[in-house]
Amino acid sequence: MQVNTMCIVGAGTMGTGIAQVAAQAGIRVCLLDTFEEAIPRSQKLLDQSLQGGIEREKITAKQAEEVKTLITWETTYDPLAEANWVIEAVFEDIKVKAEVLRQVTDLAGETVPVATNTSTLLISGLADLFGRPGYFIGMHFSNPAPAMKLVEVIPGEKTLPEVTKATVALCERMGKIPQISPDIPGFMVNRAFGALVSAAIDMWVQGGEPEAIDSSIELALGHKMGPLKTADLVGLDVMLAVLRSLHAQTGHARFEIPSEFAELVECGKLGRKSGEGFYKYGE
Ligand code: NAD
Repeated sequence: MQVNTMCIVGAGTMGTGIAQVAAQAGIRVCLLDTFEEAIPRSQKLLDQSLQGGIEREKITAKQAEEVKTLITWETTYDPLAEANWVIEAVFEDIKVKAEVLRQVTDLAGETVPVATNTSTLLISGLADLFGRPGYFIGMHFSNPAPAMKLVEVIPGEKTLPEVTKATVALCERMGKIPQISPDIPGFMVNRAFGALVSAAIDMWVQGGEPEAIDSSIELALGHKMGPLKTADLVGLDVMLAVLRSLHAQTGHARFEIPSEFAELVECGKLGRKSGEGFYKYGE
């Protein structure tokens, strides 16, 4: 499956990052977002990311310019008709995703693979909202997409083997390391991290100091960053939503949310972005 024109629906954090990754691999990308204000935000995000890449000597200024010439932005779904690969990266809301998949079913080519970047929804469930489930697959990039190597590739029950193969090949072409995941709540990374962070939250509820919990796990298990520090970085509101979804979908007691953690989020302690979470941050 030849990929030279990609449409990414949703020009937010993930859509913009994935667009950069694809353009760096020489793919022409159209970022579609129905919210006009999302476009300048996405353009700014891309500029900042490319500038960071230049400063860290990951790309040259010339490559950054080339990337910019390969990306365009649109507020209508019309460019879907021209794409030979589609990635959906809109809000994590089943109603919003259903509407987008209806548009993609109507406008994209019959044999064009459509990937979703969902973090918490099952691929086989979303595939039923798309008219051609054989061409539907999960492609879960980690944030920030330009920097993180892993992409979880999640075939649904009806995904055609050639679509899975093409997805793996596309990830590799974009310089990523794809790993095939079963279609289970949280896939592999959020499933494992959800369990770890739940255990760490439980230790904190029982009086453990965040620094001691994180350091113990870093030292003994060889993790670069302990779970509570990582949760602060991800955002405690996002973490709470992930744990709620894991608990609702699996019913496992290990994903139960202690009231002390929910209260942190309710009083606006969201981690680094708000200046305080499990830790306090300076300006
Ligand atoms: P975001 O809020 O930054 O961006 C979502 C974008 O979708 C917004 O720009 C919004 O305007 C746009 N949008 C909403 N409805 C639309 C529609 N009907 N048509 C077109 N565009 C529409 O969100 P994000 O963090 O980029 O997350 C996007 C997806 O990626 C979600 O499914 C999320 O679970 C997943 N994800 C997020 C992360 C992360 O760390 N942020 C990591 C992996 C996966």
